Amino acid sequence: SSRGRRKYKLVILGDGGVGKSALVIQFVCHRFLEYHDPTIEDSFEQQCRIDDEPAHLDILDTAGQTEFTAMREQYMRNGEGFILCFSITDRRSFDELITYRNLINRVRPGEEIPIIIAGNKCDLEQKRKVKYEEGISLAQQLGCRYYETSAYLRKCIDDVFHGLVRAIREKEKEK
Ligand code: GDP
Ligand code: MG
Repeated sequence: SSRGRRKYKLVILGDGGVGKSALVIQFVCHRFLEYHDPTIEDSFEQQCRIDDEPAHLDILDTAGQTEFTAMREQYMRNGEGFILCFSITDRRSFDELITYRNLINRVRPGEEIPIIIAGNKCDLEQKRKVKYEEGISLAQQLGCRYYETSAYLRKCIDDVFHGLVRAIREKEKEK
């Protein structure tokens, strides 16, 4: 069916070091990366079934800069869903999410864009700087879901990617 070939263009945004690459690579390759070159922007493809429907995910792992470039504007325009990622051990990365949200708004004014917030590194509870309730509250403000993830433990990784595809599908059904 045409649905089987449906490609979902997802983009993961967030500050350097929060674990964007680790999340994507854990989702696609089922392994944890200790190190990934923080300047590399790369895309990953993954076939999966979500709610009994096939999906072909095309995930862009970005390098966490907020200045505007032609390339960045291009992928912000093409992205169908965005993961806003921060680390629960880094308050600044949480505060910066609003900057990434504003970047999306700037490129896609007036559009309702499916978003999921991922509070990563939840295995590092002793280093926590952002409360679970704060993540929930930001998600309510942005009208999206919040998951605390651990790329290290592979916790809630599928929930984030599948949840974003579900949000895209729900938006399509509303049309
Ligand atoms: P990016 O710059 O956002 O792509 O971040 P990376 O994926 O390169 O991760 C930055 C560092 O955090 C690396 O040393 C990762 O191994 C580590 N890291 C990523 N995710 C987790 C996690 O869930 N738990 C822990 N403990 N470390 C993580
Ligand atoms: Mg990276």
